[in-house]
Amino acid sequence: MKKTISENYSVKIEADIKPYTWRDHGRERVAEAERKRCELIIEDIKRHVDNVERVELMCETKDICILCDGDYDEYEDGRPSCCVEAEDEWVKNKKAKELTNVEVHNK
Ligand SMILES: [Zn+2]
Repeated sequence: MKKTISENYSVKIEADIKPYTWRDHGRERVAEAERKRCELIIEDIKRHVDNVERVELMCETKDICILCDGDYDEYEDGRPSCCVEAEDEWVKNKKAKELTNVEVHNK
């Protein structure tokens, strides 16, 4: 016979930290503003709340495209799928690499 219990409780705080008015400033600057806001919240928690053993700053790490600011993803051949500009750059770099290889091969 079994029963289900709940244990290992912890507290997760999700504050409204998105600086919506900053959307036009790019993901990296928005993320930096979010990080600073979180650090201030952590300082406030440590200063005002008793018996807090540990407060962690959490974040996600991801690859983004420097041309369109979107999530960076690739097709099977390595070609970026987020925007035409990144795809064009990839094609240009691939052609340049092929030309370099041909020159090296001819020597
Ligand atoms: Zn892109």
